[in-house]
Amino acid sequence: MADEKFLVVGGGIGGLVTALSLARYGIGSHVVEQAEAFGEIGAGLQLAPNASRILNWLGVLDRVMEDAFFPKRLMLMDAMNGNELTALPVGPSFVQRYGFPYFVTHRADLHSALFEACEKEPLIKLSAGKHVVGIEDQGEQIAVSFSDGTVASTNALIGADGINSTIRRHLIDDGEPVATGFVAYRGTVSVDAVKQAMGTDELSDMVIWIGPGLHLVQYPVRRGELCNQVAVFHSANFEAGAKEWGTPEELDATFAQTCAHVANSAKLMNRERRWTMFDRPPHAGWSQGNVTLVGDAAHPMFQYLAQGACQAMEDAVVLAKALAKNSDARKAFVDYEQERFPRASMVQIRARLFGEFLHIGGTMAAMRNYLLEKRQDEDFSDVDWLYAYSAIGD
Ligand SMILES: Cc1cc2nc3c(=O)[nH]c(=O)nc-3n(C[C@H](O)[C@H](O)[C@H](O)COP(=O)(O)OP(=O)(O)OC[C@H]3O[C@@H](n4cnc5c(N)ncnc54)[C@H](O)[C@@H]3O)c2cc1C
Repeated sequence: MADEKFLVVGGGIGGLVTALSLARYGIGSHVVEQAEAFGEIGAGLQLAPNASRILNWLGVLDRVMEDAFFPKRLMLMDAMNGNELTALPVGPSFVQRYGFPYFVTHRADLHSALFEACEKEPLIKLSAGKHVVGIEDQGEQIAVSFSDGTVASTNALIGADGINSTIRRHLIDDGEPVATGFVAYRGTVSVDAVKQAMGTDELSDMVIWIGPGLHLVQYPVRRGELCNQVAVFHSANFEAGAKEWGTPEELDATFAQTCAHVANSAKLMNRERRWTMFDRPPHAGWSQGNVTLVGDAAHPMFQYLAQGACQAMEDAVVLAKALAKNSDARKAFVDYEQERFPRASMVQIRARLFGEFLHIGGTMAAMRNYLLEKRQDEDFSDVDWLYAYSAIGD
């Protein structure tokens, strides 16, 4: 008999939402996390209605919203001249349309709300400091080896171990994630510092400033006390084949070309750490035998549509529903992938395309801006496909 019926590898947003979704159907699981403590690094996170409806279904939405910030609009602004290009209002008419809100939160706030909910749930066991180094298919069971030398057995294994997934490597032989020369600097700074840099008294929107090969995302988090900033740019050093690329000097040089609001805000970025942007093209095969993948392990995507965590949540719900319908995990895992692969692949592909749309320059940028400026604010037709989707099925 296996030690665990369901072992979830990775205690990020995907792993915790998977455990909570399974528990919603009375299915117990054990979540193992390599870090010494469960937590999230990084800064802000946008959560669209396709995710907030899931948090509501899990009973954690009110808790998550306590510390959240509710932007009035999602804005695209021209980073070079400071002009508004288009805005999507996410106030009452948006909430009425999709049934659930669009909000922004600090990752740590979301993660701790999920973690608290997991801790309260008797069907969920949580273990930190457990780094999975290998798995072995033993037919009915999977043997899971940890870096501390211990081995556990499980009837079914769910890899929620992120973009550099060990579990994915066991299932799919498609090399390393793909870098295209974009790098991100991200972090929270005081809202007052950003207001000063922007020369404004109010920060009430989620704003993306776009320019050739660059963008800057800005939105308040933690009830509006902090401002999350993500500065992304394409590195000339990467193109030149340099070993060191995406450096703080390149950040400064790139954003020095933008309008004063954007350039001043970019100067506030913390330079201690930077994130290379990776994705993969869609690849089927997440479910093989009694092993499957969720979240970035299954379908890592660029963050341009702000959907990676939202998609991980959708995976979790569909996986739990499949297991509730079919107690044979092998069959349920296949059903899960069949339902999720088209949707997650579409988001992966469109995230990449949206990045190209944001980053174009020259005449093409002028054409893009012309089209964006013609768009009506209350036209939701471009986002219905993404936000109206319900993984829960109502
Ligand atoms: C700059 C940026 C901005 C983003 N903004 C948004 C946004 O606004 N909205 C949105 O929805 N998404 C956003 N995303 C994407 C989102 O952050 C990810 O898609 C999401 O966090 C993926 O969750 P996950 O649980 O699948 O993986 P992860 O968050 O990577 O979690 C994986 C977990 O597994 C653990 N782990 C890894 N390997 C092992 C192992 N071998 N053994 C045990 N544990 C292991 C890790 O320590 C980690 O805790 C953004 C991403 C970036 C880079």
